[in-house]
Amino acid sequence: MKNEIGKNYDPNLIEDMIYSWWEENQYFKPEIMENIGIIDRDSKPFVNTLPPPNVTGVLHLGHAMTIAIQDLFIRYARMNGRKSLFVPGTDHAGIATQNVVERELNKDGVDRKILGREKFIDEVWKWKEKSHTIITEQSKKLGLSSDWEREAFTMDENLSKAVRTAFVRLYNKGLIYKGNYLVNWCPGRCESAISDLEAEPNEIEGKLWFIRYPLIDDKWSGPKFEWGSGNWLDGAINFIEIATTRPETMLGDTAVAISNEKNKYSMYKGKKLILPITNREIEIIEDEYVDQNFGTGAVKITPAHDFNDYEIGKRHDLDFITMMNEKGYIENGYGKYSNLERFEARKQIVEDLEKENLIVKIEDYTHSIPKCQRCDTIIEPRDSLQWWVKASILTKQVQDKIEEEGLTIVPENQMQRLQKWLDPEFIKDWCISRQLWWGHRIPVWYCKKEHVTVSENIPIKCAICGETELIQDEDVLDTWFSSALWPFSTLGWPETTEDFLEFYPNTLRETGYDILFFWVARELMMAVELTGKLPYEIIYLHGLIRNEKGKKISKSMENIEDYDPLRVIAKNGADALRYTLIAYSTPGLDMNLDLKNIDAAQKFCNKLWNVFKYILSNIPENFQLKNYDEIKNANLELSDKWILSKLNELILMVRDAYESYKFLEVAREIKRFTWNLLADWYIEISKIRIYDESNDKFDPRHILLVCIDSVLRMLHPIMPYVTEHLWQNLPEKLKDQDGLIIAKFPIGDEEYINLEVMSSFDKLIDLISKIRTIRGEYKVPHTKKISLLVSAGESTDILNQGSKIICDLGKVDDTKLQIMENIMPSEKMISSVIGEISIFIPMEDMINLEDEMIRLEKEIERKTKLANKSKAKLSSDFSIRAPKNIVEEERIKLQKLEGEIEKLEERKNLL
Ligand SMILES: [Zn+2]
Ligand SMILES: [Zn+2]
Repeated sequence: MKNEIGKNYDPNLIEDMIYSWWEENQYFKPEIMENIGIIDRDSKPFVNTLPPPNVTGVLHLGHAMTIAIQDLFIRYARMNGRKSLFVPGTDHAGIATQNVVERELNKDGVDRKILGREKFIDEVWKWKEKSHTIITEQSKKLGLSSDWEREAFTMDENLSKAVRTAFVRLYNKGLIYKGNYLVNWCPGRCESAISDLEAEPNEIEGKLWFIRYPLIDDKWSGPKFEWGSGNWLDGAINFIEIATTRPETMLGDTAVAISNEKNKYSMYKGKKLILPITNREIEIIEDEYVDQNFGTGAVKITPAHDFNDYEIGKRHDLDFITMMNEKGYIENGYGKYSNLERFEARKQIVEDLEKENLIVKIEDYTHSIPKCQRCDTIIEPRDSLQWWVKASILTKQVQDKIEEEGLTIVPENQMQRLQKWLDPEFIKDWCISRQLWWGHRIPVWYCKKEHVTVSENIPIKCAICGETELIQDEDVLDTWFSSALWPFSTLGWPETTEDFLEFYPNTLRETGYDILFFWVARELMMAVELTGKLPYEIIYLHGLIRNEKGKKISKSMENIEDYDPLRVIAKNGADALRYTLIAYSTPGLDMNLDLKNIDAAQKFCNKLWNVFKYILSNIPENFQLKNYDEIKNANLELSDKWILSKLNELILMVRDAYESYKFLEVAREIKRFTWNLLADWYIEISKIRIYDESNDKFDPRHILLVCIDSVLRMLHPIMPYVTEHLWQNLPEKLKDQDGLIIAKFPIGDEEYINLEVMSSFDKLIDLISKIRTIRGEYKVPHTKKISLLVSAGESTDILNQGSKIICDLGKVDDTKLQIMENIMPSEKMISSVIGEISIFIPMEDMINLEDEMIRLEKEIERKTKLANKSKAKLSSDFSIRAPKNIVEEERIKLQKLEGEIEKLEERKNLL
């Protein structure tokens, strides 16, 4: 696909065109690599399954990050001849999607429950189609080189079958059970158990209520008056005081616990209390969980409504009383409080406690309470009947497998976190049922006698009594259940398809560190249990993207649109975005994204464009390109050897960095080479030879082509579009394939790396840079040639070899250049030292001494005035009244001025 290289770099003109060209040629398909014959038989296939974005809406920068990194991995693998498969897909995202659609329907005044399950699910499918189209388009814009014919959705028929198979197999092995347990419950719109991930901790300024419960003793056996009469407490003498943030839950208390270390309440152990309101007798127990230094040293225990209390309840065999329904209202049987909303009930209960003189005090208390991420409702822990996976058995298997086979995790320190999640002692059973409509319905049926039939397909009769009237479980599975099967369900499992045989296990799992447990740990658990293998070899974790000040990017931000990937792509191009996300992020750490860096990355694309155009414009139609060996054996000049040394050093370094996942270094080092070495120096130096007709030396255009070809190849995994477009326009002889996407990644040749040449040439560069700096300082006109004396010591030979370059790039008169081992300078020379080399520039050759004297005096006068003004300001009350940072700025300004004046004075003295 040869296209004219446009005058200016415009990503909008090339990106879509190139993506379509890749797709037309099916380069994303592993079979095509086979057909073309570019597979390295010694290497394993490279397989990645894209973490499926939720079909909740559009992609954000976090997705762009994940796509940039994974696409880099696969493009690098492809260019190295590994048979490469990248499976794209989307996730039905149970609760999240159901909520989005429910919200949309609510806007039109439609209630999900009135609509009914079937019709509601139809609506979600419509939403899914729309959202899926947008996500696919965005992924393509980002350059995702995935095999779209293998695209998967967690609710596709074959993936749903995988879910049912997994459920049935785990159930039959006793790894799935139904049981009561406390879950994070959203009593708001969701009315469902939700995962820990969906329960977001929120700091709130709440209250801590100190309440006293009366003790039963010889003198008092219980209240003689009605609750609310104001005399309920009459006769009670001894009390235990508890502290709570949720007084309404006292309706479900079944004990009060005290510390098992000796304390003021120890003597009450085993005694009984009367629980206010309900008049129930509850026991005082001792438990190690109680911290006697917190609150009052005694805590109320509500086993059915608090996670810690639940454990204590189990340990002490307490009653579990559910006092609140699934909507967050008080259950029947609690008198005037029944059917009150939980916070209304709290208010009234506190009022009544006060009336009965049971409140000791109320303190302000800032604490963290979990809220539903979906509908912002405060979570209520709830004891309910759910389906569970016995996680500890599965994680133990994973631990053994990792020990046996090893698993790479980037960054390494995340292995500790993963191991913590896998610790069978630490891991809790996984609640997999959700009270939702959108998702995989649990493959369990009940007959009238409540027998359980678990089946992959709809059963005809009850497995126990043969009854044919069966009802399927109403609940659906946690969305992570299907996500956990992703590495193999996408390849056709449970069937042993060709894809499954060839591409499983995968190679990579790349995702955000925030879902290491929710997703990665569960993939590992399911994979080892169901396939007997770890699902992949490498886990690469990226961080979250924050704005340049480190703030989390959220919808409420003023300039949130600036962070929309599509907008960024329209403005800067996908390549610039990808480059920025790679060059400024470190695995496992959050990234502060400065939008200015994307502009800078675009400038780099532009530079690459111009360098390429310059090189190509100097290559005539019939140019006889020399091959690598011919170049190697040619009579090369110092600068040629230098750039070839630098290039090969770069290739080896870049390969190493790609293989060790240091992508930031890859991006930055290639840019540095292209811009600071190739463009700034080698191209400038080579111009001398290219434009000199009489020149019979080696033609540097061969080397320019080799350099730009290698740069494009190395950059391709990061910036696929601009590199492909330019590469297409290289002379045919350089190209091993029709497309850069499947061309070979450079190998690098150590024989080219000549350390002596590099260090010598670096000296030459330093010397010319120094001359340029001095010219700049003295404002010498660009065209004026100067004299130069160099005392070069051991570098005399090298610098003499480069004398033409010094004259040309430093604008030195070649008749007035002297390079000797040792030079004694005369007066009135500007001198400078670079390592063992000293340079001397006679002043009068550079400037008119009288003019310079006048110029310097004026400059000193001007700066002194400014400095005096600044000093006056700082000694006024400005330094007390102005904000600290402004005062500091003024101080720095003054310091800078004083430094400049000193320098100017020195220069004046030299004259
Ligand atoms: Zn909710
Ligand atoms: Zn039955």
